[in-house]
Amino acid sequence: MAGLAAAESLYSSGFKVEIVEQAAVVGGRVKSVAFHGRTIECGAQFPSTGYRHIPQLFERMGLAGSIEKASPWAAYERKGQLHKINPRRPITFMTSGLLRWNELFDLARGSISNGGAPRDRSCYAAYAPDDVEEALPWCTRKMGRGASEHLLDATIHGFYFYSLASTSRALVSALMSFRGSEALAIRGGWDSLPRAMAKTLNVRTGLCVHRLIEQAGRVKAFVDKDTIEYDWVILAVPAPAANRILVAPNALESCVLQTRYASTVHVALGMHPDWSLPKSLNGIHGILLSANEHAWGEGLVASMVVESARLSVVNAPETLTLMLTDSAARRFAENTDDYVIEEVVKWLEARWAGIGSSVVSHRVQRWNLAEPLTPVGRARNVQQYRIYLPTQRKVLLCGDYMGMPWTDGAVETGLWAADRIRMLARKGP
Ligand SMILES: Cc1cc2nc3c(=O)[nH]c(=O)nc-3n(C[C@H](O)[C@H](O)[C@H](O)COP(=O)(O)OP(=O)(O)OC[C@H]3O[C@@H](n4cnc5c(N)ncnc54)[C@H](O)[C@@H]3O)c2cc1C
Repeated sequence: MAGLAAAESLYSSGFKVEIVEQAAVVGGRVKSVAFHGRTIECGAQFPSTGYRHIPQLFERMGLAGSIEKASPWAAYERKGQLHKINPRRPITFMTSGLLRWNELFDLARGSISNGGAPRDRSCYAAYAPDDVEEALPWCTRKMGRGASEHLLDATIHGFYFYSLASTSRALVSALMSFRGSEALAIRGGWDSLPRAMAKTLNVRTGLCVHRLIEQAGRVKAFVDKDTIEYDWVILAVPAPAANRILVAPNALESCVLQTRYASTVHVALGMHPDWSLPKSLNGIHGILLSANEHAWGEGLVASMVVESARLSVVNAPETLTLMLTDSAARRFAENTDDYVIEEVVKWLEARWAGIGSSVVSHRVQRWNLAEPLTPVGRARNVQQYRIYLPTQRKVLLCGDYMGMPWTDGAVETGLWAADRIRMLARKGP
């Protein structure tokens, strides 16, 4: 999404642009597939009404009509019990039993005072002033222990596969600004957006960029067996790939290129038509689990999506998609898909006895680089990169590790790179 957004922006302002993509299709971690009578998302799951750029891109590609609202209900765990809440109605945090009334009060007080000057919630560099402390002590001080342990930790873990304890306060500050936003779903699949964007652009798929070297104000790209020269290159790949590709990075680049990632495995389970969720969870679009709870969040699953409540499809049987924890994804790295399915079904059986015999189909998608980690310092590194990168530099880095760890953040970094090229091209050498 970062590369496509950059390319689309430059192309529409008159630049000649070429996209070199190693996969057979565009989209990267936005990937939709047909499964068990539905189109499911194997990578990015939910756009949000709080996003700034993604909805505009859908609009520009003529796809705005495919955006729908997912059910607002989700479930969180507290001491072995799942509690059904609606984030747009915070009172449900208490009526469901997830938080005590005093914990809800602490959360409300802390969230209101989180205000401050409005910032662009898609731009991680804008949160550099908050990037000074780990999130856990800050959240506990500001919003209380109950909300930190039972709501915020599970949110970070369910969405990004890491814990509040290893995250910067800057990320939580940005997430708090999504209060009142709603989860969306795309009829026909989210990857209809990158595919539509690619149709308007000059895209060469199935080609791997191996090395980029800057020489005499131009960039030499080693693309499979060819060498191609460009005036500018926007390197929109995850940090470890960018680190291999960019020859002789400077100190600012080296800092951001060290970004590490959480892994996950996305497991889809197609259910028998007679199977349905336990009544108490009716209508939830998903379950978010903290790694610190002991019954549900026991090391294997970080989050689950209930497809019928993400996007309803007439007559389609239920599909559950589970996203595994970083530690489980690493543990299963050498195991077969069948083994992963067996372990996941065993995990579900221990919680919903009898469910195993209702699983009729399955699919496994592995993401070694699922989400860039966001420890203290990353927002400041990105901000420094944006401010101090020498103007002669012809390779620009973008992607979610250079911004917020979600699609809208990735797009913002691509648009930043395109703006910078426009600005420098206007000025001339
Ligand atoms: C399971 C999961 C769930 C998620 N859920 C959400 C969600 O609900 N909402 C949300 O907004 N975000 C979500 N995300 C995050 C979101 O998917 C990413 O933040 C976003 O897609 C990253 O976009 P990107 O352009 O930075 O990188 P990528 O999507 O990784 O794109 C990089 C591209 O570079 C290509 N490439 C890599 N190396 C080379 C090379 N050497 N030569 C040529 N091409 C190369 C890749 O093939 C790929 O197409 C989720 C991610 C995962 C994995």
